[in-house]
Amino acid sequence: MASPLQRARGWLRQVGTPILDFALPPRCPACGEIVAEQHGFCASCWSSIHFLGEPCCAGCGLPFAYDLGPEARCGACHADAPPFERARAVMAYGAVARTVALRFKYGRRTGHAKLIAAHMARHLAGMDMAGVLLVPVPLHRWRLWSRGFNQAALIADALARTTGAHRLNDALVRTRRTPPLRNMSAGKRRRLVQGAFALAPRRAEAVDGRHIILIDDIWTTGATAAACAAILRRGGAARVDLLCWARVLADEEDGAAD
Ligand SMILES: [Zn+2]
Repeated sequence: MASPLQRARGWLRQVGTPILDFALPPRCPACGEIVAEQHGFCASCWSSIHFLGEPCCAGCGLPFAYDLGPEARCGACHADAPPFERARAVMAYGAVARTVALRFKYGRRTGHAKLIAAHMARHLAGMDMAGVLLVPVPLHRWRLWSRGFNQAALIADALARTTGAHRLNDALVRTRRTPPLRNMSAGKRRRLVQGAFALAPRRAEAVDGRHIILIDDIWTTGATAAACAAILRRGGAARVDLLCWARVLADEEDGAAD
């Protein structure tokens, strides 16, 4: 039998961590400055963020300098319609987006998934989330093994919890590793990702006829997401959208990795 003291120690060990977390002041997820609210950015980081939203291309979400109407699409979407219906990203890739993504991926700050999901939810307003299936862009199994988690799957989990959408983390598999796709021509990127993803055979039924939102952290070239969306469409998905944390825009690029 454990003594009352041992029992008390055991109890303290169990509850000690959450109490400690609660007692620590929240910090800016980008610079670490103490802030008033959990998951809030400090004023200086906040003001440096280029949040993406309207007015933008109805297809890929590329920001427009002025409003061209709700159905206006950019030149790239007109020239070569992407396999996703609607793609959006929370912010342009820059110092804050990069720090949050790197801390999340390599610093194991998995709480950042909640922060990212909270910002993503802004782009889902008015959507019937109960009918939506969230599918994360998969990692190759070697990378999953070395990192221990797929950051896109953690974001999908957090987003499913807050929006009531369903999520299917193993609908897609990465059958081949791909090199970083930046600085390659669109044709070469497309060739490199071709055949790198597949629909998991036992998930084929779950995808058929569904409205799917693909989840990814960084949208670098769009080639990876396009390959995944095309597979889901071929697998019978009624509609595929894309939602990302940050998008590399041509004029704000500074070292993103796919
Ligand atoms: Zn577009």
